[in-house]
Amino acid sequence: MSATRIAHIRATPVTVPLEAPILHSNGAHWGRFVRTIVEVETSDGYVGLGEMGGGGEAASAAIVGLISYLKGHDVFALESLRFAICNPTASLYNNRTQLHAAIEFACLDIMGQKLGVSVSELLGGRVRDAVSFASYLFYRLPNERTQQGEIATAEQLVAEAKRLKSAHGFTSHKLKGGVYAPSHELACYQAIAAALPGDRLRFDPNAAFSLADAITFGKGIESLNNDYFEDPVFGMPQLSRLREFVRIPTATNTVVVNFEQLAMNVLANPRAVDVVLLDTTFWGGIRPCIKAAAICDTFGLGVAVHSSGELGIQLATMLHLGAVVPNVGYAADAHYHHLVDDIIVGGKMRYENGAIKVPTGHGLGVALNREKLRQYHELFKELGGYAYDRDPSRPDWYPLVPNDRWKALPTN
Ligand SMILES: [Mg+2]
Repeated sequence: MSATRIAHIRATPVTVPLEAPILHSNGAHWGRFVRTIVEVETSDGYVGLGEMGGGGEAASAAIVGLISYLKGHDVFALESLRFAICNPTASLYNNRTQLHAAIEFACLDIMGQKLGVSVSELLGGRVRDAVSFASYLFYRLPNERTQQGEIATAEQLVAEAKRLKSAHGFTSHKLKGGVYAPSHELACYQAIAAALPGDRLRFDPNAAFSLADAITFGKGIESLNNDYFEDPVFGMPQLSRLREFVRIPTATNTVVVNFEQLAMNVLANPRAVDVVLLDTTFWGGIRPCIKAAAICDTFGLGVAVHSSGELGIQLATMLHLGAVVPNVGYAADAHYHHLVDDIIVGGKMRYENGAIKVPTGHGLGVALNREKLRQYHELFKELGGYAYDRDPSRPDWYPLVPNDRWKALPTN
């Protein structure tokens, strides 16, 4: 087989609207996602797809700039790809872990196309053909155009959880918190649990809580059907300390996002977290996540698939990861249902009974809809980026960690 070498790298920033702006402890996604769509083209004519976020900003220049390192690189040489662009000591000067992820996705896509197999077959074979997801409930601002879609109260959250369950079949529900005062968010979480008996729940305030807030909240939900308490406080020492007070598994996508931190968590006594949420971008690709999952399995840690915001290409990477890791013990997260459209052929992937089927086509199994790519690139040019770590409804605000400057409830 002749080598399949990287010849060109293209990057196209796109903006795809959300139903409404979604709030988190650091700010908001301002009614849209900005994603950079990556195309790696080889000397023998294959085109592989990748995708990257960037907190409301385009990553095009950084992606395209990699060509000076990667022109001529064999796409099958994935271990050397890591050292070619993110050698661990050279990375002190240029942290390219997330860029590496986007290129790895594209290389895997090309390998699958060339070999006539899906990425999940390439990575060991599927142990499941569909990946289950949790509903992902956010506090939301009203849609700027329609003034609809605001979510702030327990009643609004319960209605949204029921609507999503009925539309998509979710039986696990994640509440993103760290926005309103912890006492309000506790009442909201308890209301969701009461309204959906038998379903599972998880809460994630993105490390905005003080230890005291986290203890009060944790004790208030201990008897509920919790998957885990996700990043209630910041940092492994505080997470370890919290365990002395709250008897719920803890999870993170914040303080265990690389192998050094994973080792620290395994060695900590008590461990900081029980469940490591694997993000195909944060960890630098699908393959690092599979390696991390095996370490977690060995040391008795749980894993689940994390969402840092995704269009269909990134979602495909999450599905292939979820398909090949045996020890995924919890429903995955996805922001996907908040989107109004996608840039892949066939439109948005669909949930069935709370799960999405793993693509079975060659490579990642998704193709670009060129017209949608053009349309949403135009929208990016029109609207530009947004400040992920700001809330458009509170222009002078930014959070501390732990936070104590909570958003006031709407008065209308
Ligand atoms: Mg999280």
